[in-house]
Amino acid sequence: MIAGVLVEISNKNVDKIFDYLVPKCLEDKIKVGLRVIAPFGNMTISGFILEIKEKQETKYQLKEILEVKDNDIILTEELLELGKIVSQTTLSTLISAYQTMLPKALKAKKENTVNKKYDTFYKLNKTPTEKLSPQGEIIYNLLLQKQEISRKEALEISSSALTTLLKKEIIKEEKKEHYRITYQEEEPFKNKLTKDQENVVKEVILDQNDTYLLHGVTGSGKTEVYMELIDKVLNLGKTSILLVPEISLTPQMVNRFQKRFGKKIAAIHSGLSDGEKYDEWRRISRGEAKIVIGARSAIFVPLKNIGIIIIDEEHSDSYKQTDMNPRYNAKDIALIRSKYHNCPVILGSATPSLETFARAQKGVFKLLSLPNRINGKTLPLVTIIDMNKEMKKIKGHFSNKLLEEISKRIERKEQVILLLNRRGYSSFVSCKNCGFTFKCPNCDITLTYHKSSNTLRCHYCGYGEKNYEVCPKCHEKALSNLGVGTEKIEEELEKALPNSKILRMDYDTTSKKGMHEKIINAFKNHEYDILLGTQIVAKGLDFENVTLVGVINADTSLNIPDFRSSENTFSLLSQVSGRSGRSTKTGEVIIQTYNPNHYAILYTKNHDYIGFYKQEMMIRRALKYPPYYYLVNIKVSGKDEKEILNEALKIKRALERNLENAIILGPSAASIFKLNNIYRYNLIIKYKKCDNLYKTLEKIVDHYKSKVKIKIDIDINPSQML
Ligand code: ADP
Ligand code: ZN
Repeated sequence: MIAGVLVEISNKNVDKIFDYLVPKCLEDKIKVGLRVIAPFGNMTISGFILEIKEKQETKYQLKEILEVKDNDIILTEELLELGKIVSQTTLSTLISAYQTMLPKALKAKKENTVNKKYDTFYKLNKTPTEKLSPQGEIIYNLLLQKQEISRKEALEISSSALTTLLKKEIIKEEKKEHYRITYQEEEPFKNKLTKDQENVVKEVILDQNDTYLLHGVTGSGKTEVYMELIDKVLNLGKTSILLVPEISLTPQMVNRFQKRFGKKIAAIHSGLSDGEKYDEWRRISRGEAKIVIGARSAIFVPLKNIGIIIIDEEHSDSYKQTDMNPRYNAKDIALIRSKYHNCPVILGSATPSLETFARAQKGVFKLLSLPNRINGKTLPLVTIIDMNKEMKKIKGHFSNKLLEEISKRIERKEQVILLLNRRGYSSFVSCKNCGFTFKCPNCDITLTYHKSSNTLRCHYCGYGEKNYEVCPKCHEKALSNLGVGTEKIEEELEKALPNSKILRMDYDTTSKKGMHEKIINAFKNHEYDILLGTQIVAKGLDFENVTLVGVINADTSLNIPDFRSSENTFSLLSQVSGRSGRSTKTGEVIIQTYNPNHYAILYTKNHDYIGFYKQEMMIRRALKYPPYYYLVNIKVSGKDEKEILNEALKIKRALERNLENAIILGPSAASIFKLNNIYRYNLIIKYKKCDNLYKTLEKIVDHYKSKVKIKIDIDINPSQML
């Protein structure tokens, strides 16, 4: 027997199937989709079995498989096929596609150390022939009554009696696997759907492969609709996937789902340990969990018989993997899997991405709407504060109006959410005397001052150093903190409103396991008046007592050099506004900005998604951007600045020769030109229809695959242009 194995080395040069002999003793265990250990060159490596053949096809002397790692199939037939599609459509290696689909514990990696956890039990084996010790008697009698007892119970009686019973084989030991996470079963809770919600649920055909856009304003009850659809799918004996943007969303969402579905859910997010992820994955694979809630990579879970795939906050760029290969989009994967399972996909959002809404307009996706908040609550009143005028009146970063309104809320025992999309204390430190600014030695980016640790840190590569007293260049004591981050705002707020209780939520306060949930719960229980944070506070949170949302500076996201910055700003501001006045009390929003007349801000004020959509579409059409044109970003990077520019120019010429009807832009320096000592250029391809595209890109990847000094990364339909 011959096994075709895909090895764990992610290198285009070895991304093919290698044949191995299967020793007789392993023949029964070998199945497609399992992991094996095998020799490779002078190493031993791990890999996936992708084929089994009876006969050898070449004359080479084949090596033997050393070990089979799994009993259960890791990659199902569906996932094996899916991996091939991911690899082809993202121009990545097949092995990188499979590795992406699996939790760390199940990747083909030789040094994996995550294990199953076991509990030890004892059972009766045979009747004793001689008299037992008194303690032995107790254990024996207990087992006559209970069938089995745990090791803990037995040890509490007597460890020596236990040893004797085992030695005499009167009892036997058994191991039972246990999962690291347990879900409580509660009295299922559900709201009675409103007429609007019911209509939406009715529109969705469950045994048909259609994609729906559920466009519902914030607080319109989308989550409730998801739960109802999932319930229906469950009643059909099928399973569901619900994707949410990131960990920040999961605690509250998981809570709601657990209340209704108890042990049927599995939740996969970055807050879990490797062991916990491994256990959740196996509960899914064994069919014990029927509903999977998770971030991007949960789209690959080995659920069988999927009845619905729901992507909440579908506009979120977190569904696209951008930082490494394969650069896939979970939305594309959802469409592929739904076809396989013949089930619907629901894309939900208050601010759908332009691409999605345009498809709904064309009828490619079916449009479902929830235009009103639950129980006729109105959307919050939004006030724009022009900071150009305000600046002359104030010292810090708070307009008088915003401070006033915050105080009012605190008096009324209501709560406030404040957004500032910049963590740390100041965004950069500069010398007032000579103009020196601190920059990261590895990246082309200013260092951020963090007051609590008195350090200067790079938010891109993690570089950090102690803060300085004097300017390292002119030696004057003239360093000043410019720009503003969440830490500084917290300090300002403490001074302005000394009696308020402020809770900060950003990357720095949530990086420890479980902190995120703690912060959310503490705020929910009204232990704090103000929740201040980065965009992490904008998403999906549902606090009924929040009646004011303040945006300290709406311009941070507007100023990002990306063609989607208006769209992202509109959606961020709308999302964060949506946290205000979700329950019985009316909500208000105050947005501070230096661009009070920017259309993204004006449409946010009027809660006018359609208005924004129309205006933004005109701009996209004029500038030939998505959804009118497709984009491919080719990233050329390396340590030698001149060399990579030269190669980027060569690639450009090759593209121009091979691609008709495409517009090639660049090479242009990436907006963070130097990152981690690596220089980066971007080439952008814009096209509507382009016949040779994949072939040409494949050739480029092939050409550079063995070059060490130059790295080519291809991002098809990129979510950001940095
Ligand atoms: P969205 O996901 O659109 O932001 P949610 O589903 O979170 O909206 O609903 C907003 C709030 O209204 C939540 O507190 C939710 O519990 C409540 N809610 C939703 N649907 C109903 C309903 N049919 N009856 C009563 N309350 C509801
Ligand atoms: Zn850096």
